Amino acid sequence: MAETVSPLKHFVLAKKAITAIFGQLLEFVTEGSHFVEATYRNPELDRIATEDDLVEIQGYRNKLAVIGEVLSRRHMKVAFFGRTSSGKSSVINAMLWDKVLPSGIGHTTNCFLSVEGTDGDKAYLMTEGSDEKKSVKTVNQLAHALHMDKDLKAGCLVHVFWPKAKCALLRDDLVLVDSPGTDVTTELDTWIDKFCLDADVFVLVANSESTLMNTEKHFFHKVNERLSKPNIFILNNRWDASASEPEYMEDVRRQHMERCLHFLVEELKVVSPLEARNRIFFVSAKEVLNSRKHKAQGMPEGGGALAEGFQARLQEFQNFEQTFEECISQSAVKTKFEQHTIRAKQILDTVKNILDSVNVAAAEKRVYSMEEREDQIDRLDFIRNQMNLLTLDVKKKIKEVTEEVANKELNKHIEDGMGRNLADRCTNEVNASMLQSQQEIIENLKPLLPAGIQTQLHTLIPCKKFDLSYDLNCHKLCSDFQEDIVFRFSLGWSSLVHRFLGSSNAQRVLLGLSEPVFQLPRSLASTPTAPPNPAASDNAAQEELMITLVTGLASLTSRTSMGIIVVGGVIWKTLGWKLISVSLSLYGALYLYERLTWTTRAKERAFKQQFVNYATEKLQMIVSFTSANCSYQVQQEMATTFARLCQQVDVTQKNLEEEITRLSKEIDQLEKIQNNSKLLRNKAVQLESELENFSKQFLPSSNEES
Ligand code: GDP
Repeated sequence: MAETVSPLKHFVLAKKAITAIFGQLLEFVTEGSHFVEATYRNPELDRIATEDDLVEIQGYRNKLAVIGEVLSRRHMKVAFFGRTSSGKSSVINAMLWDKVLPSGIGHTTNCFLSVEGTDGDKAYLMTEGSDEKKSVKTVNQLAHALHMDKDLKAGCLVHVFWPKAKCALLRDDLVLVDSPGTDVTTELDTWIDKFCLDADVFVLVANSESTLMNTEKHFFHKVNERLSKPNIFILNNRWDASASEPEYMEDVRRQHMERCLHFLVEELKVVSPLEARNRIFFVSAKEVLNSRKHKAQGMPEGGGALAEGFQARLQEFQNFEQTFEECISQSAVKTKFEQHTIRAKQILDTVKNILDSVNVAAAEKRVYSMEEREDQIDRLDFIRNQMNLLTLDVKKKIKEVTEEVANKELNKHIEDGMGRNLADRCTNEVNASMLQSQQEIIENLKPLLPAGIQTQLHTLIPCKKFDLSYDLNCHKLCSDFQEDIVFRFSLGWSSLVHRFLGSSNAQRVLLGLSEPVFQLPRSLASTPTAPPNPAASDNAAQEELMITLVTGLASLTSRTSMGIIVVGGVIWKTLGWKLISVSLSLYGALYLYERLTWTTRAKERAFKQQFVNYATEKLQMIVSFTSANCSYQVQQEMATTFARLCQQVDVTQKNLEEEITRLSKEIDQLEKIQNNSKLLRNKAVQLESELENFSKQFLPSSNEES
């Protein structure tokens, strides 16, 4: 028989495909979980990926790793059941084209025997619970080994590894399990739990020389209870025996067929009547095995004598094999890969959602951060421009206020308010004006500061009531005032000197003659900073000069009477005595008049006039000094306020710059996260389509159903 492509390849290819997809899936989810973890752990990116996301995706990664491992070990499994000596081992051997399992020696062991492929070229066996590979060279050795091994308990499993090179079925991931006869056990439930739940196909090997027995049926009923619609084939073996009685053959076949159909369709309800006809075969394992062995050895099929109807029975065995292979590979792909495909789709879906949520969160945050950055940049620009403008403005304002204080306010108040509350009134006015300006500066700067600082501004920049510090010290101011209310004749000696020499020189002239009228202020009462009078030394020199002059004059006066007589004589001679006497009487009358009018009222007037002159001079000095001092204070106060505000604005600017840098970094990171999540999402979509293709190719029925 030319080797056609085995239907088992369907499973083999599906396994290869799904394993590859799960490999990619694991890689993808691992990458995804690293991405989510990095995003979650990034302290600068809050709430872009949640802990739940991370836990979920990491869970999937672990799950996928396990599934991948399971998938790589997946194989198709067929389990053979039937009474002892019904020919189970013979059927397995016939299918394997070689005498792998011992047969014909009756009930050798209570163990299950599984035959699976090994990549090596030597057969070996392994017993349950041991890693020891026991080499077996011949079937007899195997039989002997099984028979002699006293450690083997009933219902245990012995793995027989057979070189794949020798057998096509084993190459295609098929595992065949031989069971002890269903008639020898009372532990059907344990058997089923242990060996049947992952079997894809059950083959009931019946002896066609007798009818189906209840023990056999009972077993399959139990299987049917545990599994939904198990795939069951019934092989009516030893059909070659029927050839000896050809006249009954058809009847017997019909009878068997009816009973088997009834069993599968009516009792077990695992297949439809139509399908059931493809599940029941009449074969001779012994014949097939023999012919195949001969063929393998290059001998003719029948080994010489061919029994009647052999070709038909061989054909039927081959039909069985074909149907069985189709059935088991379809079924195994479905039961072993479909659930995982669905699970993989679910995982992809969830991972996609996680990536989407990360992407959306990152996008939202990015837009928000970009807007924020835009705002901050605008704000910084605005602050910089405003600061430039304001600085100019404030400089101007300070100058204005300072001048105002120096020129107008203070002068006015000193002039107006000679009362006791001068300082108070002045300070109030200056303060009002200054506070207003300060307030203006603050109001102008306020919008440049963050809200938090704006509210704290009054504590940061205390616009305290500012006290002008000046001291008029009225007491001291007037302490050196000395009135002069002594009578002085307007044509008297000292008055004349005054008139001709000027008041200041006259004082020096008169020093020796009378007490000084005024004392020049040596220093200003409240002027600690007043410079030492530079005129003082000059005055000393002048004083000396004056003293000499006065001494001269004094010596002159001592000879007055003599002079008067001489001068009087001359005048007398020239003008005549009448004119002189008239003049003298006029002089005397004037003196008398002035002497009489020098009353208390006149003295008062003189005193007032003297005081006014004195005070005017003093106050003018004080005003100019105090004004300068106060305007300096005001300037200082306002400059300090402005400097403090500028400091706050500087801090604000620096904070803004830092915030902008931080936002830029964050935006970059968010962009990367978006790109990564998009990239990963695309991978997810690609994997989804691969899974979809897998479903279409290998699970067509499930697609039709869904
Ligand atoms: P098992 O106990 O169910 O595994 O049965 P075996 O495969 O050991 O077979 C028991 C005996 O029946 C052996 O001697 C086989 O040669 C024989 N036997 C198996 N199949 C056939 C068959 O199709 N026809 C005949 N005539 N004998 C068979």
